Amino acid sequence: MPPPAQDPSPARSGPVVVRTDPGLWFLLSRERRRDRATVPWDGDATLGHVVQSLGVPLTEVGGLRLDGRPASPQERPVPGAELEILPVQRPQEVPGATGFLLDVGLGTLARRLRVLGIDAAYRNDAADAELVREGAAQHRIVLTQDRGLLMRRALWAGAHVAGDRPDDQLADVLDRFAPPLAPSTRCTACNGELAPVAAEEVAGGLQPGTRRSYAEFARCRSCGRVYWHGAHGKGLQRIVEAARAVVGRRSAQPGR
Ligand SMILES: [Zn+2]
Repeated sequence: MPPPAQDPSPARSGPVVVRTDPGLWFLLSRERRRDRATVPWDGDATLGHVVQSLGVPLTEVGGLRLDGRPASPQERPVPGAELEILPVQRPQEVPGATGFLLDVGLGTLARRLRVLGIDAAYRNDAADAELVREGAAQHRIVLTQDRGLLMRRALWAGAHVAGDRPDDQLADVLDRFAPPLAPSTRCTACNGELAPVAAEEVAGGLQPGTRRSYAEFARCRSCGRVYWHGAHGKGLQRIVEAARAVVGRRSAQPGR
């Protein structure tokens, strides 16, 4: 083993003490879910390595403190040091982000985000490496439930999505990022933007009942699919109202 970057102070020895915010405990193994846990000291390991070795991707970390002062993931702890792991602040700002890119398996979440007008790219056949590459190329925040993916070095930005049910997943994403909502402006099928279109233009492709009942139509700029107001009825209304409540609450009390 090469010598450590910093000589440990002679007064200190022993493992590194880790204090993880309870909000991140779900990522830890059961025996580490407590106020203070320890990891063996390893002179080569940076703080980033220590954190990820516990199962916590750095995307979920809002800050590190080493012996009470702010520290960067590149620093190396001395034996006996105390490391504090803090969660990301909500709402989280990701400068330069253009939208989201969802991992395989989050298709329902993708459609719900699109219903709210949030840019949510999704393919059900993308491999991990491809997702990471695409997210980086397009400056999209990769949303996933796969921790290994969040620990990939080439990741530009990412977030772990909590919850098994799409309702809970949506609430988590909205609570974390509080994105601006623009319901009925995006195609739920392909994520394209909708543009208003005159009823006469689309009348040929509609059922007579639809043509009679609705006056406002929109068409996807990417795939041509036609939408009309009221088409999703109560289901849509419920999603939009729940979303407004979550985002409103988060925007009113930033950085809990
Ligand atoms: Zn479309």
